[in-house]
Amino acid sequence: MLVMIRYTLRCPEGHEFDSWFKSASAFDALRAGGHVTCAVCGAGGVEKALMAPRVRAGRDRAAPAAPDDTDTPARDPAPQPQADTPLSQPASETERRIAALRAHVEANSDDVGLRFAEEARRMHSGDAPARAIHGEAKFDEARALIDEGVPVAPLPFRRRRDTN
Ligand SMILES: [Zn+2]
Repeated sequence: MLVMIRYTLRCPEGHEFDSWFKSASAFDALRAGGHVTCAVCGAGGVEKALMAPRVRAGRDRAAPAAPDDTDTPARDPAPQPQADTPLSQPASETERRIAALRAHVEANSDDVGLRFAEEARRMHSGDAPARAIHGEAKFDEARALIDEGVPVAPLPFRRRRDTN
């Protein structure tokens, strides 16, 4: 399972939106330069918070964004497109969106590979600087992290095998 940590940003008007940054210092530099603004109203003064645990499965798109979803049980991710799809077949809208998400995640978060669970715990306990990371964790590991309150979310694609 490929998982990551992302930031939720919050503007002074209370709008929340998700974003990824290469590192905490990159966020600070962009924010100091006035380049981080609210995705909803364009206000500056955006603050950063770690994402509340949320499992992104296709089935929960109608669920309300309840603030007290911290004990959301980990679930198996939504069915994934199979890798044996012929290359000549046009990509579905879902596949295009997954490909765009993969490109964004790979460009904006650190790949910590199989050390994901260890790094996520160190960040959560303050032993490592908070930043956006992604890497691999077994389903049980991801579930344990969520149980501990570490804000991880599964990603709907596999990690590239040649990056580690
Ligand atoms: Zn706003």
